[in-house]
Amino acid sequence: MTKPLIVGNWKMNTLCDEAVTLANDITDIAQSLASQVDIGICPPFPWIIPVANAAAGSPIRVGAQDCAATGDGAYTGDVSATMLSTCCSFTLVGHSERRQHHQESDDTVRRKLDQALIADLDVILCVGESGQDRTDGIADDIVRSQLGSALDGVSHDQLANIAIAYEPVWAIGTGTAATADDAADMATTIRRDLESRFGSAASIRILYGGSANDSNAASFLAASNVNGLLVGGASLSAERFGAMLRQAATA
Ligand code: PEP
Repeated sequence: MTKPLIVGNWKMNTLCDEAVTLANDITDIAQSLASQVDIGICPPFPWIIPVANAAAGSPIRVGAQDCAATGDGAYTGDVSATMLSTCCSFTLVGHSERRQHHQESDDTVRRKLDQALIADLDVILCVGESGQDRTDGIADDIVRSQLGSALDGVSHDQLANIAIAYEPVWAIGTGTAATADDAADMATTIRRDLESRFGSAASIRILYGGSANDSNAASFLAASNVNGLLVGGASLSAERFGAMLRQAATA
């Protein structure tokens, strides 16, 4: 069975002392669960180093919420994958809030993914349809198209460093999660798509994200082809996130 992966995306929340306290609290909870569940946290950029220091020696992996689409250079405000690789082990790319608020195209997401792999960062590639896409019956097409664009040129060996997060845009931060059946259906679509592109993809982790919390986590973790969770709001509470980690450990 694939070991589940639970990742907290703190987005643009916390001040430094709050981030370190949260990391310390999650570290305490994580110690006894590490053999059953992989755990990641993605603090805001300025807190990555203090959070990484707090998590040092623990099983928690620290990741970035995003990386630049280019290598180092004259790109004011950007943070390169190479820089991040000195203090992170993975990065998200293609989060819908980046696509929505920063007009990130599929091509930009592909370039970010390339940069992350070049810098030896693992990647969580986020994909997901809008509410209108789902109403229009094109959710699968949209997700397959996002996968096709982002994974163009990726080798089978590189795929081993990538997890896919299925995050329906209409479920993110809304309190309205997808059903476990919908998550399972899309996770199965994603797995088949990966298999058709790469030949085999049984070991690739597919996460669900979108208003996942300690009340619904167990249902997603039991869903077919779902191997973990990407958690936004609920990851800001060590108690709630910890409850999700415990559920994953016994799933
Ligand atoms: C996310 O940020 O990836 C996310 C899923 O957020 P939330 O859990 O708050 O919906």
